Amino acid sequence: MNLEGRIREVRARLTRSCEVAGRDPASVELLPVSKFQPEARLREALALGFHRFGENYVQEAAAKASGLPEATFVLLGPLQSNKAKLALGTFAELQSVDRLDLAHRLERLAGELDVVRPVWVQVDLWGEATKLGGCPEAALAPLLAFLVGSSRLPLKGLMALPPPGELRAFTQMADLREAWRQRLGRDLRLSMGMSGDLEAAVAAGTDQVRIGTALFGER
Ligand SMILES: *Cc1c(COP(=O)(O)O)cnc(C)c1O
Repeated sequence: MNLEGRIREVRARLTRSCEVAGRDPASVELLPVSKFQPEARLREALALGFHRFGENYVQEAAAKASGLPEATFVLLGPLQSNKAKLALGTFAELQSVDRLDLAHRLERLAGELDVVRPVWVQVDLWGEATKLGGCPEAALAPLLAFLVGSSRLPLKGLMALPPPGELRAFTQMADLREAWRQRLGRDLRLSMGMSGDLEAAVAAGTDQVRIGTALFGER
């Protein structure tokens, strides 16, 4: 099947799962994840109406960004501090902010570069941080408090990458989002759900699904 057909299939899955959950399909954003996909693939997706792409690796995304000025990129992968500056120059938004020292550094560099970059906090409730990145629940309060006070790094929401088969993960994240919404007294979006589990994420209330394989094929 070509890209157009796979986009139609993914949209149909999203619409169906929204119907089941009694949600408006327009309330769930589909973020295509284009890591390891060649630039030609992204051009095809651009022609079919996608303008924002999730990428995991700073250097790979920086190369794509210079070839595709009409696209914008969202960082999904773990960010090493020494790539923070390149990341701020490459990505319109950062979804994998997961520690206070990184947030401090990003804030300082964003000031130097005079840029504003919306950020999401990647949460790890499952002890996976060493492998996948993510902020453990016990370290969330100071990180969220810092970002709420930052004008350079406005806080958009919470992102999670639960290990496969962790069935309670999506409702755990929905509960966590609700608790922090109340504590902070402001809205927080939720980004979770990938090719294999978007239905469960939609059922739990995600605002964004990040889809790679189901759109672009195997990597
Ligand atoms: C690769 C990746 C995705 C997309 O995963 P698929 O299973 O290919 O849809 C989503 N989010 C993150 C953080 C990823 O690294």
